[in-house]
Amino acid sequence: MKLDVAHILDWMEKANDKIQQNKTYLTSLDQAIGDGDHGINMARGFQEVIGKISASDYSNVSDLLKDISMTLLSKVGGASGPLYGTAFLKMSMALKDSDSVDYPQFVHAMEEALQGIKQRGKAEKGEKTLVDVWETLLEQLKEQDDFDSVRFEETAKLAMESTKELEAKKGRAAYLRERSIGHLDPGSVSSYYIFSSLSDVVKE
Ligand code: ADP
Ligand code: MG
Ligand code: MG
Repeated sequence: MKLDVAHILDWMEKANDKIQQNKTYLTSLDQAIGDGDHGINMARGFQEVIGKISASDYSNVSDLLKDISMTLLSKVGGASGPLYGTAFLKMSMALKDSDSVDYPQFVHAMEEALQGIKQRGKAEKGEKTLVDVWETLLEQLKEQDDFDSVRFEETAKLAMESTKELEAKKGRAAYLRERSIGHLDPGSVSSYYIFSSLSDVVKE
């Protein structure tokens, strides 16, 4: 399979649905180890993304991903807005002028996205941030050679759950030091929703 504009529109619709349904939950996770706005930030940003992309026509995935990134950058806010915005911007740049995305192109775009997140947040895997989900998934992507063999849902879920036992080293949760242990990282949970949505798109 290849991902085209329709797949990415569907991906964003599904991600938005999950984020809206779990807005209160995401916020409660951020109340425990942050400032309690992650659900609000993500729900606002993704609603704006849907508004923007459903009102436009796209002839290639790169322009679509660019609009997603610009909307996330300007509407999500917090630490997560620039990070998600950068991720989608790097994907857009990696897929310049492509009208559809084959598996190697997708892996390359994900690699660029992860690098962008890590540069922007100065975070590494294991520091209890959304990097934990993106990097674990990228490792799995590199071991596979087509969309059908990637376990997006399961891999992102395990990585998200693994943040519970970690001590936060970046972001607001890092102020809590060892008291951050025992709580899920909110951004890893929203990233899990994003990749479980992609999983649904790929399976259809
Ligand atoms: P804020 O913390 O500014 O209120 P959000 O609550 O929207 O922003 O997002 C918090 C999430 O952002 C965290 O759960 C974490 O996953 C992610 N995050 C925060 N700082 C960093 C960083 N430096 N690098 C990577 N991810 C980060
Ligand atoms: Mg917050
Ligand atoms: Mg905040």
